[in-house]
Formats: sequence, C-alpha cells, structure tokens
Amino acid sequence: MNRYPKRDDLRAMSGYHSPQVSVKVRLNTNESPIEPPAEFVRELAAAVSAVRWNRYPDRAARELRGAIAAMHKVSPDNVFVANGSNEVLQSVLLAYSGAGRTVATFEPTYQLHSHIARIAGATVVNGKRNADFTLSEGEVQRVLAEHQPSVTFLCSPNNPTGMAEDPAIIASTIKNAPGVVVVDEAYAQFSPHSALKYVNEDSRVAVSRTFSKTWSMAAARLGYLIAPAWMIEDLEIVTLPYHLDALKQVAGTIALKYLSEMERGVADVVVERERLLGAMRAMPLTVWPSQANFILFRPNGAGTGSNGTGSNGTGTGTAATNGTGSNGTGRAVWQSLLDGGVLVRDCSSWEGLTDCLRVTVGTPEENDAFLAALRNALSARD
Ligand code: PMP
Repeated sequence: MNRYPKRDDLRAMSGYHSPQVSVKVRLNTNESPIEPPAEFVRELAAAVSAVRWNRYPDRAARELRGAIAAMHKVSPDNVFVANGSNEVLQSVLLAYSGAGRTVATFEPTYQLHSHIARIAGATVVNGKRNADFTLSEGEVQRVLAEHQPSVTFLCSPNNPTGMAEDPAIIASTIKNAPGVVVVDEAYAQFSPHSALKYVNEDSRVAVSRTFSKTWSMAAARLGYLIAPAWMIEDLEIVTLPYHLDALKQVAGTIALKYLSEMERGVADVVVERERLLGAMRAMPLTVWPSQANFILFRPNGAGTGSNGTGSNGTGTGTAATNGTGSNGTGRAVWQSLLDGGVLVRDCSSWEGLTDCLRVTVGTPEENDAFLAALRNALSARD
C-alpha cells in the first residue's frame, strides 16, 4: 500500500529521541540515579490497590494539584498537571502558539522547545546565547522586539549547558516580552533561584517543573506548570479529557510527602557532581560549570572552530565559533565511552555544540565507571 503523505511542514522533521542502548551505565537522560524511598513504593502499592479501575480518573486531578499548590504556597487554580513536563510545554504551545504565531528560544537549549513549537505549527525563532552560554540581554531584547513572540522560552538551569539563567535577564525578559514567558525549571532544585516569584494573575509567566529528575520518578511521566489561573483555564481547552491517569495522580501526591528525602538526594548528587567536575577538569577537556545534575564537556583539540582556549577548560569557550569544523572527535569519544560500557548524550551535532558531550551525574560507582572509561577514551586519542 502506498504511504499517505504527512503534513508538508513535518517533512523536514524527524522524531526527538535519546538512544536507549542496553548498556550497564546509562548517563544520557538526566534522570536521578537514586531510587525513590522504599516507604514511597510501599505506600504507592497500597494506594494502587484502592484505585477504582472501572472509573475514569478525577479529570481535574484535584488532590494532586492541591498537594503541588500547598508545596509552592499557591492556589490549586494556579497548577496544571500533565504527562511529563514535555506535555505541559506542548499544552502551552497548543494554547498560545500555532500557525501565524512565533516562538522564541535561545540556543543552545532544550531541543524540545523548538520541536514541539514546530509541531504546533508555529514559526520558531532561535536567538543565540553568549560564548559562555549565558543569555545576552541585547540578543534577548532584539529577538523580542523584532519577532514579537507569542511564547518565549527560558530554561533555568539550561539543558544541555548546565547553568541557571541570569536572574536579571529573566526579570527583563518577563518585563519586555509581548507574550507568554515559559521558564522551564526541570532542574529547579539544583538552582540558586526560581522564577516562581514572578507568577501572578497580572503576569504572563509560567514555570514548568517535572517529577522526572529530582523526584526520582521518570518512569511515571508527570510534570506540572505554575501559572496564572487564566492560563490554566486556557490550557484546559487543549487538554484531552482524563489525560492524567489515576495511577499517576496518586503517585505524584504520595511522592510529595517525601520532600526531605528528595532534597537529601539532590545534595548527594551535588557532591558527586563536584567530584566529577574536579576529575574532569584535570583531563584534556573543556568542561562547562554546572548548576544541574549533568555536565557538558568537549575533548580538547576537537574541531577546527575550536571552542575554548585549549586549556583544561573552565567553560570559557567560544560558542560563537563552536558551530563549524568538527573532526568527529566528540562522536569518537562518545563511541569509545559506549564501547567501555558507558552511555552519555552525544550533543556533537547540535547547533553551537560541535563535539560536545553531556554526562548525567550517576551513582558514585557509575561515575567511577564513567571517569575510567573517559580516561581510556582520551588516552586512546593520544
Ligand atoms: N525540560 C527540560 C529542560 C528537560 O531537560 C527535560 C527532560 N530531558 C524536560 C523538560 C522534560 O521532562 P519530562 O517530560 O520527563 O518531565
């Protein structure tokens, strides 16, 4: 049978995938290396047996939204929940972007922002970050003024580069943006600041969060948005009926009881992150600083449009020149790590990230395995 042609505007696109390779040490998707507390699992098992499976779930997810609202000291009317923060972002884009509207991102950043916006039919404008991946006030204001985006994305801490956005630029973006500003805070618990304080009924600010990272619940697919009540009402228009199943609602509600365990896990990951950073800075790599649970790095000598000064980098490379001239070094190191049983994220073909790789902070044993495999991969290149 002949294939039926897809939408014209999807022709140039492919799906967004992070390879799920069967390998012992998987440090490629920024999950928590820590399992949720055993008590959580027991409580959840009991709650699951009480679910009325023949009935649709609570469409408004009142209990879960109430628990999230209580944690953030907002009203449940300010909380939207969905299947992962990706679906949260999709809902925002369905409601506020679409054909004839523009969405702004600042690259390199989380690729799904542009990807979902395009699927929603919007025109995407990619502003650029500074050489060190920070936001540039001038560039942000240029994009806002020239393109009048309906939705502007910030990502704090920014994936895959690692640092929280400059709070002054978050504030000025919110002040000057003509449309909705979404601050993606998937890694919020690692950040020294949050944009939550800007959410109120008179602002157009929305902050997205996820249970997939620090809450150790990537398997559940649960995320949420804190936003003005009028925005939550708008999102209900684009949301499918009963989109959030009963299991997930109960899992999220119970998870929030274990806040201090989650915070302890974050502190443990930070200790390991600093250990990794220390070890990696002693290797022939450019290593960018991180306020998240992942680290962006690049083998020295990679590419000809070299990013960094060639020293054991501290993240002072030049992203502006980091768009050309790969000699395949990033990819080769990625493959060599994989051959050594360690999967990291290959960002080497992404715009502005030539030859860059990203490693998620794992357990101490996983991190040791990564460091050993990395030493091996780099010495094989000498
Ligand atoms: N935002 C950012 C910045 C992310 O890194 C991720 C996960 N990689 C997400 C959103 C989506 O997470 P989820 O859909 O699992 O909530």
